[in-house]
Amino acid sequence: MADLPTVEPYEGEEGGVIVRLHKRYERDPRLVADKRKAARLAGDFSCEVCGFDFKASYGDLGAGFFEVHHTQPVHMMKPGSKTKLNDLAQLCANCHRMAHRRRVPLTLEELRVALRGKS
Ligand SMILES: [Zn+2]
Ligand SMILES: [Zn+2]
Repeated sequence: MADLPTVEPYEGEEGGVIVRLHKRYERDPRLVADKRKAARLAGDFSCEVCGFDFKASYGDLGAGFFEVHHTQPVHMMKPGSKTKLNDLAQLCANCHRMAHRRRVPLTLEELRVALRGKS
């Protein structure tokens, strides 16, 4: 059996420690849970950049799904500093990956401009 690739292309491509820290941070289950709770209360799970709604496209499978993105540069945070809910964005998988195309993640506004800029 051929060896399956073990590298996560997403992180491997970007390479840097900053991105890895950022991604690890975003996997903090408590942060994700808080953000999901806020979305549930608001009744809105759509992407903050493009408006994509997983449930609208995938039905029940996509209900309540989005990815959590940290909008503050994690590497510049002081140890022990608290993340506010406002520092987290709910993004679709596409916009989230695009945010991490650069070593320093794009801002939501930069992503919106990039998306609109397509012709
Ligand atoms: Zn999106
Ligand atoms: Zn992110």
